[in-house]
Amino acid sequence: MTTVRYRLGDTGPAISEIRTKLTLLGLLDDTAPGPHTFDEDVDRAVRQFQQERGLTVTGVVDATTYRVLDEARWRLGDRLLSYVVANPQTGDDVLALQRRLSELGFDVGQVDGVFGPRTDEAVRELQRNTGLTPDGTCGPSTFKALGRLAPIVTGGRPDTLRASEALRRAGKRLPGKVVVIDPGHGGADRGNTGHGLEEAAIVEDLGARIEGRLTATGVQTYLTRGPGSEVELDEIGRAEFANETGANLMVSLHVDAHPNPSASGVSTYYYGGDRPGTMSAIGEQFAGLIQREIVARTDLLNCHSHAKTWDLLRHTKMATVRVELGYVTNENDAARLADPDFRDVIAEAIVVAVQRVYLPTGEDAPTGVLHLDDLAQV
Ligand SMILES: [Zn+2]
Repeated sequence: MTTVRYRLGDTGPAISEIRTKLTLLGLLDDTAPGPHTFDEDVDRAVRQFQQERGLTVTGVVDATTYRVLDEARWRLGDRLLSYVVANPQTGDDVLALQRRLSELGFDVGQVDGVFGPRTDEAVRELQRNTGLTPDGTCGPSTFKALGRLAPIVTGGRPDTLRASEALRRAGKRLPGKVVVIDPGHGGADRGNTGHGLEEAAIVEDLGARIEGRLTATGVQTYLTRGPGSEVELDEIGRAEFANETGANLMVSLHVDAHPNPSASGVSTYYYGGDRPGTMSAIGEQFAGLIQREIVARTDLLNCHSHAKTWDLLRHTKMATVRVELGYVTNENDAARLADPDFRDVIAEAIVVAVQRVYLPTGEDAPTGVLHLDDLAQV
C-alpha cells in the first residue's frame, strides 16, 4: 500500500489533479493549465480547505485530506445515491441529502456525509410519504420531492433533539450500556515518544484500566485492539468495528507530542465542522464532560474541547471522543503519564464522564466529586 503524502515542492500528475480539485472548489485560481507544482498557492488552498473541513491544518495532502478533497466535488443530484453495504457512498452530496432530510424531520442519525443504514431508512420514509417507490435509491424523482417539501423544522436542530431524547430514554443506569475503548496506537504503531515513554504503551495500559472500571459498573466494554490483536485496523476500520458493537459511546485514547517541549495539557475532540448541521451534540457534551473531569482531578493544563472531522470521529455512529492526555514531549506531563496512580485518576475521570452523560441535567454532583463507589448506587 502506498502512502498518500503530497506537500510543498512536490510535482507530478497527482499535483495537477489536486490543483484541479482545489480550483473547482474556488480555493485556487488555475485559469490556464499551470505547472504541475505544489506551490505556495496550493499550500495556502490546502490549509484553507483543511480548516473549513475540520481536518488538521498541515498543508499536506495525506490520505484523509485526499479522500475528503475527492468527496467535495459531488453536488446533490450529480449521481444516484443509495446504501451500498460493502462500500458506503461518501461525499458532499450525501451530506446535503442528510441535512435536507433532517430539516424535513426524518431521522438520519449523525450528519456525516456517509450513506449508511439510517440514511437509507430515512430516504425510504421520505419516499413512502411522497408516494414514491420506497426503494431507498435517490434518483431524479426523489431529488425533486426533496426540493418541493418545505422544512418542518427551521432554526432548531432536530437531530440534536432526537439524540438528547434517545439519551434520556436510555436511562441513567450504567448496566446494559455499551462503550468502546480505542487505544489510539498499538502493535507496530508506537505513536508519539518522549522522556522514555511510548504513546502506544500508555494508551494500552490506560485502556485496560478503563475497561476494568467500566466492566465493574456493569457496562459492556469493547477494546478496538489489545495485546492479542492480529490485525491492526486503521481509523475507519476501528470505527466500523465500533459501529458493529452497537455502542452508545466511544473513547479514543491518545497522548500528544510537540517539537516545543513547553507544549502541554489535555484536550478533547468530537465530531463536527464549520458546515451547518455537522455536529455531534452528544459528542460535544461527552467531550466537555471528559475535559472537565480530567481538569478537575489533575493539574494538566486545560486545552479545551474542539470539533474535528477526523476519520474515527466521522465514521462512528455513536458519540465518540478523542482524548489527547498531555504531551509526552513535556517533562511535567511525561512524569504524570509515567505514574500508575495518575493513570488510575484519568481512568476514573473518564468512567465518571460516561456516567454523567446519562444523568439528567441538575441531578449531577459537582465535577470532580463523583467517585466510582457512588456510581454503583445510581
Ligand atoms: Zn495518537
